[in-house]
Amino acid sequence: MKDNLVISVLENELEALNQIKEKCLHCTGCNLHKTRTNIVFSGGVPNHKMMLIGEAPGFYEDQKGEPFVGKAGQLLDKILASVGFSRKEHLYICNTLKCRPPENRDPLPEEENACREYLNAQIDILKPKIILLCGRIAAHAMLGTTQGITRIRGKWFEGPNFSKMMPIYHPSYLLRNDSREKGSPKWQMWQDIQEIRKVYDQMD
Ligand code: SF4
Repeated sequence: MKDNLVISVLENELEALNQIKEKCLHCTGCNLHKTRTNIVFSGGVPNHKMMLIGEAPGFYEDQKGEPFVGKAGQLLDKILASVGFSRKEHLYICNTLKCRPPENRDPLPEEENACREYLNAQIDILKPKIILLCGRIAAHAMLGTTQGITRIRGKWFEGPNFSKMMPIYHPSYLLRNDSREKGSPKWQMWQDIQEIRKVYDQMD
């Protein structure tokens, strides 16, 4: 009986996510709808435990309609796999913007504001306990800070619905900073993902 109840709640949540996605597919809320190939709504698996928020779709994401494809996506998968996570089982992935900014420029404030209702809805529907803020754009959008990612990565912040949020490096940044020496961004990412795994395992 309890299992059925859990499944029926999850079905309601999936239905709610699908309704938001449907709205996104036809969204003209900012100018990015004019240049997008596909919206990139989400990846991974909808769940209540962990969500990763990235910045905005890049070229390959726009082409495929999926978040984190290409080299950055492959590196993200490696980072996750290093502590036994996979996007098929452990996390839901979405972005601050659902459409690609031309030439991969930073999102404009008006684009972030226009798209925020979709991100807020994804968070409110799933109520994840852990939210990973992948890169500067996502960290700034969710924390309302302008501090550099190197200063805030690896720290826990209080998030919506009593969640814990941690800014982490974007895999694109790690591709540009290849050193694995102690204290390097890659080394720090390794510390952060182990801390995330530890907290994940302590949660129900
Ligand atoms: S980026 Fe967001 S607000 Fe802008 S058109 Fe796409 S879905 Fe709509």
